[in-house]
Amino acid sequence: MLEALHSRPVHRLPPRVRLQGRILFLTEDAALVRRQLEGEELDWTPAVTLRDDISTDEITPAYVCYYYDETLGDFPYLGLKCGDEFPITRGSVRRGGFVASVSGKRRGKGSSREQSPYAEMCAGIKLVVAENIERIYRENCQNLGILATTDFSIITKVRRGEEIPLSAFTAGEGEITRGIIEHGGLFNYNVARLQGKIVLRPPPTPPRPMTLGEKILARHWVVDPARGQVGVPAVKPGDEGFVVTDIRFSHEYVTPMAAIFFEQLVGPEATVSDPGSILMFRDHLTFLGEAMTPERIKEGLLEVAMQLEKKQREFAERQGIKLYGELRLGHHGSEAICHSKILEAHAEPGQVIIGSDSHTPHAGAIGCVAFGVGTTAIFNSWITKDVRLSVPETVKVVVRGRKPDNVTAKDFMLEILRHPYVKSGQAIGKFVEYGGEAVAALSVDERATMTNMTAEVGGFTGYVAPDQKTAEFLAASRKLSPSRAEALCRDLTSDPDAAYCQVIEIDAAALKPMVALPGDPGNGLSVDELAGPVRVEIAYAGSCTAGKQEDMDMYARVLQEAVARGERVAPWVRFYIQCGSQDVKRYCAERGYLEMFRKVGATFLEPSCGACINAGPGVSKTRDEVTISAINRNFPGRSGPGQLYLANPYTVAASALSGYITAWQPRMALAATAARP
Ligand code: SF4
Repeated sequence: MLEALHSRPVHRLPPRVRLQGRILFLTEDAALVRRQLEGEELDWTPAVTLRDDISTDEITPAYVCYYYDETLGDFPYLGLKCGDEFPITRGSVRRGGFVASVSGKRRGKGSSREQSPYAEMCAGIKLVVAENIERIYRENCQNLGILATTDFSIITKVRRGEEIPLSAFTAGEGEITRGIIEHGGLFNYNVARLQGKIVLRPPPTPPRPMTLGEKILARHWVVDPARGQVGVPAVKPGDEGFVVTDIRFSHEYVTPMAAIFFEQLVGPEATVSDPGSILMFRDHLTFLGEAMTPERIKEGLLEVAMQLEKKQREFAERQGIKLYGELRLGHHGSEAICHSKILEAHAEPGQVIIGSDSHTPHAGAIGCVAFGVGTTAIFNSWITKDVRLSVPETVKVVVRGRKPDNVTAKDFMLEILRHPYVKSGQAIGKFVEYGGEAVAALSVDERATMTNMTAEVGGFTGYVAPDQKTAEFLAASRKLSPSRAEALCRDLTSDPDAAYCQVIEIDAAALKPMVALPGDPGNGLSVDELAGPVRVEIAYAGSCTAGKQEDMDMYARVLQEAVARGERVAPWVRFYIQCGSQDVKRYCAERGYLEMFRKVGATFLEPSCGACINAGPGVSKTRDEVTISAINRNFPGRSGPGQLYLANPYTVAASALSGYITAWQPRMALAATAARP
């Protein structure tokens, strides 16, 4: 494959570009949008209000993302709400001959889905103009080769058909971002790198005290890709470059689009680099058929979604990539959720791991730098094995003291998420290093709950420095000798005088079981601070965050006591327990948990993301339904239209029994009464 890329002509944008086509102004007035789609040229002035806050959900609603190829060009802005109307219909943007799309503030907020700019690109859009543009959406545009600017004077130039200097789009950007824009996207930039036409100087940072995250990045820093030279003495926040990855993984929501990019740009017969270090997962949508509405099924969307599975499976087979698949097509359930399996069987301390999912930091529980990336970054990593980044600053979170028995890592995170520093967004894009005696006392499974939820913090990634517990986990899960496991953990600590941009301290002893009120994981408060009894209709105990062995132990601990007292799940509650992998299911079976779950009236489910991504049993169906859930985020619509409260595994199990949100205490009676509390 590399041979073919070595001789491939490198595409570069000319120093001046001319964009030919119409301009679509996404205005608040639905009629104005409609008239433009019908052919009218809008003589836009600032007096015409543009839509602000256009999220990627509006550009490409979730069901649109079941498409993964140029068909996406039929759909940009299908979810765009102007007033109370949705003026954009399938195919109307593509038919309109637009080259530029203009909107107001905060364009591209929300999910990092690259389907959004790709749908725009496939519909003909080559330029987006907005008052400000969200970071990930902007990066995705750059990676795909879409020009983006906040300079509205460019609109006049496009209208007049004038040439625009490329520097208008690169001004103020760092060396790598500038290069990516000039090469029309990350792929061409990487081809130029592979051909030696771009040589990046390693950061000139002299040796300095470093955090563990910085050390791992320094050890993986790509110095000379042609000679395979990797590693620099030191890095500091702000250093920009590429790091080589140890593991790259993706799931069925992303793999098919990345595969299409690979086949179109590298070649249908080309092979990925080092397939042994790539993993794929069928985990998000294996229960979709049980959650999709009959209307959507009638529209054919279930069949479209099934194509994601097929495309990923075929690509993995052709490339010799290990795929953790569906148990049996049509027999709902997966071998494992991606994050669960990466931690259970693949990650090693000190590695760099990238995944197509924001909760990739899960593997930071054993001291990896593991972070989520977009589709183009995954596809490029299949070629180069490396990934672009800028070294982030590090926030240190110290959880001291000894936690109460019924408080868990989930409560630590709900407390951290309501900390003003985190809540105000200051931790966004940063390393989060978790430590302190209460973290040291946690198992690796519980540490993973913390690093996983670094996604909710908004951090670049989170990690816990490896210790004896890590070595014991590795020895047991990887069948390693104790000395080999300890060797993997050696020398992986932050320097005592490393610099942190912020230190957050939490007293575990003062914590109580928490809940996050519906709408945001940052809406935390202790259960006893709830204004009154909260009756629940659904209890969901699963996901990558809460489907691990120790989570099952916690559900079982509560339920075992209930069995002994002859209690069952409250008659009005649907209680689902869903494990993260087949290993966890076996663990449950060996301990008799499956039988016990059945006895109390819980429904045990095969591994899958399921209700966590609004795609399986446990989703709410109406706005009034209340769910208590151990998953990691409760943004509106995340698990159906209802009211979604987050809580720790003990609380979820106790609430399923009592029928009301209940902080569990050992040996407490939980039998449901309709008139509780
Ligand atoms: S279980 Fe939920 S959070 Fe975890 S990978 Fe799946 S969808 Fe994402």
